Amino acid sequence: MPKFNEFKTDFPLVTQLANEEEVLWMNPQCTDSETGLHYSGMSTGDVKDASDRLKRFAPFFAQEFPETKKNGGVIESPLTAIPHMQERLSHSAGIELNGKLFIKQDNALPVSGSIKARGGFHEVLKHAESLAVQHNLIDQDKDYTQFGEPAFKRLFKAHKIAVGSTGNLGLSIGIISAALGFKVTVHMSADAKLWKKDLLRHKGVNVIEYEDDYSKAVKEGRQEAEKDTSCHFVDDENSKDLFLGYAVAGERIAAQFAEQGILIDTEHPLFVYLPCGVGGGPGGVAFGLKLAFGDAVHCYFAEPVSAPCMLLGMMTGLHEKISVEEIGLTNQTAADGLAVGRASGFVGKVMTPLLEGSYTVKDSALFGLLRMLADTESIAAEPSALAGMMGPIHTISSDVVGSRSSASRHLIWSTGGGMVPEEVMKEYYNQGLNVELFPGKSTKNAK
Ligand SMILES: *Cc1c(COP(=O)(O)O)cnc(C)c1O
Repeated sequence: MPKFNEFKTDFPLVTQLANEEEVLWMNPQCTDSETGLHYSGMSTGDVKDASDRLKRFAPFFAQEFPETKKNGGVIESPLTAIPHMQERLSHSAGIELNGKLFIKQDNALPVSGSIKARGGFHEVLKHAESLAVQHNLIDQDKDYTQFGEPAFKRLFKAHKIAVGSTGNLGLSIGIISAALGFKVTVHMSADAKLWKKDLLRHKGVNVIEYEDDYSKAVKEGRQEAEKDTSCHFVDDENSKDLFLGYAVAGERIAAQFAEQGILIDTEHPLFVYLPCGVGGGPGGVAFGLKLAFGDAVHCYFAEPVSAPCMLLGMMTGLHEKISVEEIGLTNQTAADGLAVGRASGFVGKVMTPLLEGSYTVKDSALFGLLRMLADTESIAAEPSALAGMMGPIHTISSDVVGSRSSASRHLIWSTGGGMVPEEVMKEYYNQGLNVELFPGKSTKNAK
């Protein structure tokens, strides 16, 4: 492993990463948010454009997906305080969590049950809208329920959408594309769960399976799409439209905190912990949070010990030019949404001045936390979605400035789980029994 020897000296943390240890990395290049946002080349206006588009499509969602009607067709998830989890977690870890612990329940996002509903839907809607504009189909006197009309369906039937995915992005793109009438192909990596493939096929989505990992599925999908001019490829590694769709979460959660009377400012700092795969979801959300809260918000990414691709890419500055395999890691993890060996270079570069830090989590901990969350708060999330839950333990035990304050708010971004079949969820829950979350200190999860 030539890369490994090269890095050992410059980045001692690489040795721990290669040993699959749980680590916290503080990003030395993180700067003030104004400077950081400026470097990105994206602005408030770009996110507003995405936000306005989602508003235009709200009537379409309300019509097409009845479960979104009560929220006016806006796809949003609850922000919930979790005091029982807070107590159990801090007790097990033997730390004092003096602030307040919240969870953002993207596991409960309507229609596709994961964070991918944010970015994935936005990209497909933008594509659909621009096709409709090109073909002069949009009637300015009507709302966007017109996207369900036969003329639109006929247009979209002549167009294809393709995506490579570990599962949830495929679900999100597949469901929305099929609803609009596109011909859609999802290239699934070997980690993708059988029930996700079955569900998509049931909706008329063309699912192609690969023996290989996520990067391979994306590459094949991209090549396939390049041959066909009527095909739009959703590029999870490079897409700005996905990123901006995720970023709308910032203004949405700012409104939710305000509604609940929870002040966020530099005296009441917000620490946010986001599970990271290729980076688009957590990166986009973090970007939106920075726009909404500036220097009052501190964002951390969480990755499995076997697939810390974003941490490795950002720390070494090599971004997409290095994979976790090159330091001897397997990219094998039960957190299928995070099973990514090579990070998005686009996101890594945008996040370099904005991300406070990053840490890794063992698979066993994900299951232990999944069970603890179900027991204490009756919230069911998938293993990937629990990666954020270790965040407060890291910041508080490392004495990160502000993290121990009783005015601090710690927010766990729970990224998925809403579509997991009950028997699969039960299996996850069972795997969380007797997990020693904090060796030496812990009380184990009991029956
Ligand atoms: C996709 C996904 C993530 C991470 O998003 P990326 O854009 O791949 O970084 C986290 N959690 C779940 C459940 C996901 O499906």
